[in-house]
Amino acid sequence: MRLLDLRLTGFRNYEDACCAFDPGVNLFVGENAQGKTNLLEAICYLSRGAAFRTRKEAELIHFGSEFAALEAHVFSYDREQSLKTVLFAGRRPRQLFLSGVKKPSREALDGVLNTVLFCPEDLMILKKGAADRRKLLDDALCQLRPRYARALEEYRRCAAQKAAVLRDWHDSPRLLDLLPDYDERMAQTGAIVIHTRARYLEQLAARAAVHHAAFTADREQLACVYQTVSTVTDPTAQTAELYDRLREHQESHRQAELAAGQCLSGPHKDDFELSINGRSVKTYGSQGQTRTAAISLKLAERDLFEQDTGEQPVLLLDDVLSELDAGRQDFVINCIRSGQVLITCCETDRLTTAGRTFRVEAGRVAEVEN
Ligand code: ATP
Ligand code: MG
Repeated sequence: MRLLDLRLTGFRNYEDACCAFDPGVNLFVGENAQGKTNLLEAICYLSRGAAFRTRKEAELIHFGSEFAALEAHVFSYDREQSLKTVLFAGRRPRQLFLSGVKKPSREALDGVLNTVLFCPEDLMILKKGAADRRKLLDDALCQLRPRYARALEEYRRCAAQKAAVLRDWHDSPRLLDLLPDYDERMAQTGAIVIHTRARYLEQLAARAAVHHAAFTADREQLACVYQTVSTVTDPTAQTAELYDRLREHQESHRQAELAAGQCLSGPHKDDFELSINGRSVKTYGSQGQTRTAAISLKLAERDLFEQDTGEQPVLLLDDVLSELDAGRQDFVINCIRSGQVLITCCETDRLTTAGRTFRVEAGRVAEVEN
């Protein structure tokens, strides 16, 4: 999958700009507030139909403009297509076009351009709470596996209803009659959730370890373990086995759940732990190590997406270079050789030898000669 070019009219700080991309690495250098992230945001918007920094489309339109137009040519699944979106100030709905044909809904454009985005907020995912790490797995799996998305939705619905019962049963003891049914369905869907996440993480970890070793010239070994309820010793086991273990866990936690008034048993509390050379990244990882491991995970996510869909998503790396040493910066700029990569950075003296370098200045993009 390759982005061929992009034209922006009245989008954020771009009045009218265009850019033709390299099939390999595209490095966008520029000082703060020049439009580097805006450029990636426009690409993401064309890819997913939603902006990653705001829910308000009006914010995407250049100050004082009546509309914003975003257009890109994409080569994917052996053909060239164009994606175009026009956003209007006021209440007029957006217009979507695929290869010049107006489309009534966003779904018609799905899959034409897939992107994997990595922004500064993602860098600390390994240091933050478990919810962010579960989200990383769930976001990827919901796109790739419809059965997983359905099981997760059902699990969440039952968990929310069970939580309400556990909260309110003192006032209405008859609510307790509902618990066996919720437990049964949570064990069934929970088994699918644990099995699918753990299998995916196994593959993700294997790919991420390869990227991380290349990143660090084999000095660091990355490993990853899925953590779930105590009765499950092998989270990659078959779902029938996981179902039995979840039922066991529910049984042993029944009194504690009633006393706590909370849902204590199940994969809604799961996590995964990353280690470098046997030591936990969360506890001992340096800033640079944590960033490197997070980027390796994203590169792995892209590999698995390609394995499933046959096309490699375009990788968008926003501002990931700071806090990386010279060797690791060089890896990002010059050594990610598979597929197309767009990288932004503030280090204005950087050049890539693996593609093209562009300078972004006050909403204008110009290629820098190597
Ligand atoms: P940094 O290196 O600090 O991350 P950047 O080059 O990524 O900077 P962007 O986030 O792309 O910067 O933003 C560039 C500028 O775009 C900002 O100064 C911002 O105020 C401006 N901007 C944002 N929305 C609009 C808009 N709707 N109209 C005009 N300008 C806007
Ligand atoms: Mg930025």
